[in-house]
Amino acid sequence: MKDIILKRFLKYVSFDTQSSDSTNTHPSTEKQKELAKYLVNELKELGIDNAFMDDNSYVYAKLDGIKGSKTIGLVAHLDTALESSGVVKPNVIEKYDGSPIELKNGNTIDPVKFPKLTEQVGQTLVTTDGTSLLGADDKAGIAIIMTLVEKLIKENIPHPNIFVCFTPDEEIGEGTYLFNYDYFKVDFAYTLDGGNIDIINYENFNAATAFLKFHGKSIHPGSAKGKMVNSQLLAMEFNALLPNIRPDNTEGYEGFNHITSITGSVEETLAEYIIRNHDMNLFKKQMQEFIDIKDALNTKYGYNAVECTIKESYLNMKEKVLEKPYVLEYANCAIKQIGLTPKYIPIRGGTDGARLSFGGIVTPNLGTGSYNHHGPLEYASIDEMNKMVDILIILLNLIK
Ligand SMILES: [Zn+2]
Repeated sequence: MKDIILKRFLKYVSFDTQSSDSTNTHPSTEKQKELAKYLVNELKELGIDNAFMDDNSYVYAKLDGIKGSKTIGLVAHLDTALESSGVVKPNVIEKYDGSPIELKNGNTIDPVKFPKLTEQVGQTLVTTDGTSLLGADDKAGIAIIMTLVEKLIKENIPHPNIFVCFTPDEEIGEGTYLFNYDYFKVDFAYTLDGGNIDIINYENFNAATAFLKFHGKSIHPGSAKGKMVNSQLLAMEFNALLPNIRPDNTEGYEGFNHITSITGSVEETLAEYIIRNHDMNLFKKQMQEFIDIKDALNTKYGYNAVECTIKESYLNMKEKVLEKPYVLEYANCAIKQIGLTPKYIPIRGGTDGARLSFGGIVTPNLGTGSYNHHGPLEYASIDEMNKMVDILIILLNLIK
């Protein structure tokens, strides 16, 4: 089975499916449709005649299970991240020997920096050539689901009803934007979009964006004393008043404010911050701090110097998932049965599962055996992908 999943994974990463946040189309890039079409054909070849792709590049398929059994969903995304090229030249390492993996452009995957590698000696790993990301996020997830489907069919393994969905545009936060809830009628689902296969994620950030506009008072610098207000300095003053919680000095359950862009002149400066916290009360407090600082500066300067608009983008799925704790319990038992120790780790980001959970389908996230996503140091373990297929078979058996 290792060869099957390796071959499959290499095929999927050969498709450039990078999404784009600037096209305003669905899918955001036409090229995602190529992989979507390929997957529909592959599903049909496996005998699933109902497999189809809709106009927006969502792939759906249904596998009928034992009569009267539950219906579950398995979800992975087609697209790859924007940060690094989607044109991939993968590099297969058979029987990894534990040494640093040297790639092009001075990139090294070093076990000292990435200790997970020390557990992966002897495994088959797939890396990039150092010039792009690998796209194991989330083609490892797709390869796991497809291999699972093949195994269930070919080996006649009893299972519950299964809906499969491969979504476009997850990386730009639109993976569930045009999701067909009417078709995907499941009791609950799992996304296959994580790293370690012993980790279950069911907590993600609450997320909002603050849009700030600073209004200055421009005047010739030669005669500016007591009159000029430089909007760029207002922005710096605003930033200095925020609590010192940033992505580069927080971890685990610690939230942060992160300035993602700033452009300005004396007259006007625009800044955007993303606001993140797992805890709803702390999240609200962080948002309130933006408003309070705005008010304080407006009072200090005596005019409407700062405008602040905050838009919430997604919420922590924890409360939704805990309404159906057995969804976690199934995954927990399956991971234990394979001989691993399950861990619950909060996601320091969002997930399609969060939106699905708030859309009515409780959807925690499971691992894919791939690491260092979104850059040239990304790699996947074929052995762990294989093991994830076995974990899912156990999980399906528990659910049915
Ligand atoms: Zn992903």
